[in-house]
Amino acid sequence: MVVFINPGHAPNGNPDPGAVNDTTGLRECDVAKCVADNVEQYLNAAGVTTEQLQSDSLGDICRTANDSGADIFVSIHCNAVDAESANGTETWACAGSYRGSILADCIQKQIVEALGTTDRGVKIATPGVNGLYVLSNTAMPAVLVELAFISNVSDEQLLADDQDDFARAIARGITDYELVVGGEA
Ligand SMILES: [Zn+2]
Repeated sequence: MVVFINPGHAPNGNPDPGAVNDTTGLRECDVAKCVADNVEQYLNAAGVTTEQLQSDSLGDICRTANDSGADIFVSIHCNAVDAESANGTETWACAGSYRGSILADCIQKQIVEALGTTDRGVKIATPGVNGLYVLSNTAMPAVLVELAFISNVSDEQLLADDQDDFARAIARGITDYELVVGGEA
């Protein structure tokens, strides 16, 4: 199995760091990159081949992923809203992608269990309604993981301190998925 990993937003935050915590300055682009690097290490150690691209161009990301022949696509992000109380983990899959939903479910379960974050569940992105570009324009089962809320005090601490735990949980979710779908993946 080949896994394509996409840490959200631009490398080194230039020009787009994604969401930034007002108080601590923690940046989504840096959290996503660190978690993605660690996911790669865990997967490679488990014998799973990985590719990674962080880019400000969603078109480049999808083209590169599709050209790579990867079996699954995992985009890593942090959530943020104005309401500081909002917290928890959610994982998005594209409407109509049965395998994408299975992959989202496997990753969601592992993160919530490992980190103790609020389980906001698997969400379905419907193109033309609430579609997500990287889910609509990739050819393989694809998910977008919102690790936790960078705008929430306790979630922000997890995102700052427990990046390795997030990574291990995502890697476990991916290997769980491989078991569920069997050798076909
Ligand atoms: Zn993001």
